[in-house]
Amino acid sequence: MMHVCPHCGEKTFSPWLKARCGGMSSVGKPCPKCGKRCVNGKISLALHTVLSLAGLVLIIYNYFTFNSPAEFLLGGVLPFVLAQVIGFVFDMFFCRLIEAIKRE
Ligand SMILES: [Zn+2]
Repeated sequence: MMHVCPHCGEKTFSPWLKARCGGMSSVGKPCPKCGKRCVNGKISLALHTVLSLAGLVLIIYNYFTFNSPAEFLLGGVLPFVLAQVIGFVFDMFFCRLIEAIKRE
C-alpha cells in the first residue's frame, strides 16, 4: 500500500516513509521520484493535537491521583507513549500527503 505524492501524482511513499514526513509544521520528506518535499495534512495535525491533549489530561489527572510509583509511571508515561504510537500508525496508513509549506 503506497501513498500518492501530491507533486508528481505517483505512488512513491511507503507507509514507513509517510509516517516520518511529520506534520504541517515540519520540513517533511522528499519524494523518492520527484524529490519535492511532502508532509501529512490537516487531519493528521488535528489528530495529533487531540492525542497530545488527551495524553496531557491523563498525565495531569494521574499526577493528582496516583498511589504508587509504579502507578505513576504507568499513568504518567504510558498515555504519552500511546499518543505518539497511535499518531505514528495513523500517519502510516491514513490521511493524504500534502505539499510542504515550510522552507528548509
Ligand atoms: Zn513526487
